[in-house]
Parts: sequence; C-alpha cells; structure tokens
Amino acid sequence: MISILDEDFSQLNEFLHRLQPTQLLILVDENTHEYCLPRLLGNLETEIPFEIIEIEAGEEMKTLETAAQLWEILTEFETDRKALMINLGGGVLTDLGGFIASTYKRGIPFINIPTTLLGMCDASIGGKTGIDHQFLKNIIGTFANPEQIFVFPKFLETLPFEELRSGFAEMLKHGLIIDEKHWNDLISIKNLTPQSVFPFIETSMKIKQKVVEQDFTEQNIRKTLNFGHTIGHALESLFLLQGKPIMHGEAVALGMICETRISMLHGLISEETSNTIISHLRQFFPDIDTKQFSVEEILSLMRNDKKNSHGTINFSLLTGIGNSAYNCSVDAEHINKSLHYYQNLP
Ligand code: NAD
Ligand code: ZN
Repeated sequence: MISILDEDFSQLNEFLHRLQPTQLLILVDENTHEYCLPRLLGNLETEIPFEIIEIEAGEEMKTLETAAQLWEILTEFETDRKALMINLGGGVLTDLGGFIASTYKRGIPFINIPTTLLGMCDASIGGKTGIDHQFLKNIIGTFANPEQIFVFPKFLETLPFEELRSGFAEMLKHGLIIDEKHWNDLISIKNLTPQSVFPFIETSMKIKQKVVEQDFTEQNIRKTLNFGHTIGHALESLFLLQGKPIMHGEAVALGMICETRISMLHGLISEETSNTIISHLRQFFPDIDTKQFSVEEILSLMRNDKKNSHGTINFSLLTGIGNSAYNCSVDAEHINKSLHYYQNLP
C-alpha cells in the first residue's frame, strides 16, 4: 500500500507495468508542476500515453467548480475506467484528485504521490477524499482508497518551512496518541528540516495506515486521530472568518495544547505529564493570540463540526504519552479552562 520510492522510482515503474492502465492522468498544481513533475516524468519508463492536468495551488481550489472542470477534462480526454489518475501534490490535490477519480464513471483507479509532509503523513492515507462547499470544509466527498501511495521524501526539500512544520504537528499527534517512541524521536529534533524528519516519515505513515485499516469509516479507533482537532478546527475556522488564516498544523498544535490540558482536567494524565507535553509542543510552534475569540464562538463551531452528533461535543483525549481514548464528552467549563490556561501561559 505504501512504497518509499528509490531515486529512480523503480517501484512506480513496476507498478505501472503490472497494472497496464490505458492512460495516465497526472494531476499537479502550479508548485508541484515546477518542483516535482520534472523528476516524475524523468523517471517514468513507460509507453502509456499521459496527460498533465494543472490546477492553481491552494485550498480555494477544492471546490465544485474545479471538480466540474476536471470531470469535463476527463471527458475531453476520453478517459475510460482503465485509466489511472496520478495525484502529485499536497493534501488539497490528493483530496480533490481522489474525489474526481472516485466519482468519474463511478470510479477509476488512482494513486497518490504526496509532496508535502502533511500529505505524506496524513492526507494521502486513509481514503478520505473531498471538496469544500459553502464555507464548509470537506463537506462533500467519498471514502475511496488509492491503489497505492508512493512517497519520495526528497520532494520536501522545496517545501516552505511553515508547510513542513504544519505536517510535523500531525506527526507529533501520531506519537502522542499511539507511539511513545515516535514522540520521543520527534521531540529530540533540534532543528526542523526536511532531512531531520526523513527517518520518521515512514513510521508516521504506518501509524495512520494501521489505525484506518482497523476502522475505515471512523466508527471507533480512527476517532483518536482527531486529537487536537476539535478545538484546533474551531480556532482555524475563526481565524479564517476574520481574514487572518493560520496554518492547519498551527491550529492543531494549539488544539493539542488545550486538549492535553483537558486530558489532565479529566484526570486521565498527571499535571506533570501534561506540562511536559505542552512544553515540547511550544518548542516547535509559535504562540498565537486567541483572546479575541469568546468561548461561546468556539463552542458553537465545535457543535457544528460534522464529527459531532446530536449536540454533544466528543473529544479524543490522551490517557498517557502514546495512549489515547475517544468519545470523551467534555463540558463547556473544561473547554473554557483549557483556553484560559493557554492564554495565560508565560
Ligand atoms: P496543499 O496541498 O495546499 O500544499 C501546501 C502548499 O505547498 C501548496 O501551495 C502547494 O502547491 C505547495 N507544495 C506542495 N508540494 C510542494 C513541494 N514539494 N515543494 C514546494 N511546494 C509544494 O496543502 P497540504 O497542507 O498538503 O494539505 C492540506 C489539505 O489536506 C486540506 O485541504 C485538508 O483538508 C486536507 N487533508 C485531508 C486529509 C484526509 O484524510 N483526506 C487529512 C488531512 C488534511
Ligand atoms: Zn489535521
């Protein structure tokens, strides 16, 4: 399912040789066109005809309009169900490309070649595809697995630092919820660079893969991956509504700090463990001023989150470093306390 590519992409060539698709549809955005496509094309050893489809970069492209354009392009190319879509890009591109592939003619096969750290360790794995609609993120989508995920960590060498750090938040999350050793490895990184994360990417991918294999449709254990995301998503949306977007990973780091504190308030971890985790999270992520938002605003967004049902807010919380629980119902008072705690950190 997950292959780490050698310099010559031999694993990809072998895969194409086995699958023998009728056509390759290579989806890129403007940045992956410039930074990643040349290496992919330079390494492809195949006679299969291919088309390159480029979209602009950015979350704004995850829309029904883009989807409609892409479906039209596939029709123009006379794409049949034995064609293969190759999604070469970050999470926006693999979400969108997976959605297009899984809906066109009721589904054509696709592979993901993630090019951001968030894409590698999170978005390309787990079969969630989708687009945003009417200001709601990922509100339309499918569950559809790629045939394979091919990872070439060196693609990260051209990625802006903030994007790298954003993906790093998800890696830290994987360590915290499931794997203490992974967490310890990651917090020992002194200087966050592509090279410093290379040795740990595969572990993070395997953690996510293993969780989603056990619970593809998110009925139980997959919910633990939402750690840091309940408060994180709400704050990410509020900053966006204010016209001052923050990175997803920054929001998740902030969410993980508050939710670690809530884990302590629930008696699931000691204050000492909570303080240790939080000080490590703060070593990588900048403090963000959240004072302008009221608890009511944050709560109302959390209630609307599609992952909650019937008005109760369910959290995934830590029960230790490398251990977590899901479906923990948390009341407004503890959420409030955790936000105050964050705002008053020295
Ligand atoms: P992204 O795809 O927008 O990539 C971030 C930026 O980096 C873009 O400007 C992109 O063009 C650029 N880029 C990509 N690769 C590059 C490279 N190698 N060198 C230089 N620039 C490069 O965003 P992302 O952070 O990768 O993903 C965010 C998206 O992922 C969101 O839409 C989110 O909803 C989705 N997501 C999905 C899942 C899932 O399970 N499906 C999980 C997490 C996130
Ligand atoms: Zn996330």
